[in-house]
Amino acid sequence: MPLIRSCPHCGQKNRIPARHLADTGRCGHCKNDLPPVAEPIAADTALFDEILQNARVPILVDFWADWCGPCHMAAPEVVRTAADTQGRALVLKVDTEQSPQLAARYNVRGIPNFAVFHTGRLVSQQAGVVGHQQMESWLEAARNG
Ligand SMILES: [Zn+2]
Repeated sequence: MPLIRSCPHCGQKNRIPARHLADTGRCGHCKNDLPPVAEPIAADTALFDEILQNARVPILVDFWADWCGPCHMAAPEVVRTAADTQGRALVLKVDTEQSPQLAARYNVRGIPNFAVFHTGRLVSQQAGVVGHQQMESWLEAARNG
C-alpha cells in the first residue's frame, strides 16, 4: 500500500513506495522534485508493516487516541519532529482505537506511547509526553545504534 502524495508544484497525485518516503523523488507529471515526507503519517496496521519492513531510516511511532488529553499535548511536538527530521527519519501516528491489535503487539498501555524502530526492529519505547528534542534524540540514537 504505497502512500499517495500531492505534488506541491502541479497537484498531481503521486504514489510513493514505502522505501522512498524519506527520499527526494520526482513528480510523474511535471518532473519537479517531490520533497521527502515532512509531516506525521497516519498509519493503520497494513501501512505500518509496509513502512516498518521497507523504510531505510529510523521511524518514530506515536501511539495515541482522540480521547487522550496528553496525546493532544504531544501532537505539536510530533509534528515538529517530523519537520525537523525530514529526509532522515519517518514519523507515524497510530490511532490505538482504530488499530488495537497493533497497540497490543507492542504492549502499549499508557498513551501517548512512543516507539522507535530502525531496520525493522524496535529500538526504544517510552510512554508519556515528551518534547521534540527528546523525540529527535531517540531517532538520532537509533540511527547511530
Ligand atoms: Zn508535479
